[in-house]
Amino acid sequence: MKIRTLLSIVLLLAAGCAFSAATSVVPKTAPAKSLIVVEGVQMIKRHTRANPQRNVKGGIVEKESPINLSNVALVCKNCGKHTRIKHQVLGDDRRVRICKKCGSTIE
Ligand SMILES: [Zn+2]
Repeated sequence: MKIRTLLSIVLLLAAGCAFSAATSVVPKTAPAKSLIVVEGVQMIKRHTRANPQRNVKGGIVEKESPINLSNVALVCKNCGKHTRIKHQVLGDDRRVRICKKCGSTIE
């Protein structure tokens, strides 16, 4: 998984997408399904039933729906471009993620 929860900022690449070229953070990922939730993107309305036992209020709840991983790209904090990552092993055997475009470390 190239994109990590909460740390990554992603760019939406889908053509014709209302949010194309917007950057946002990632609250949740599902690598096995190639799905990703991007903050403020693909908002859906759920009509939820109240569940007092689990302290859930009823009504219409707006939340994000997952989108396919192929429609987003990682944005490097250092160079600001959307990029791919490469892995590099440091001297002390730690593995870091590196921006393919500028070579800076991405945590
Ligand atoms: Zn970079």
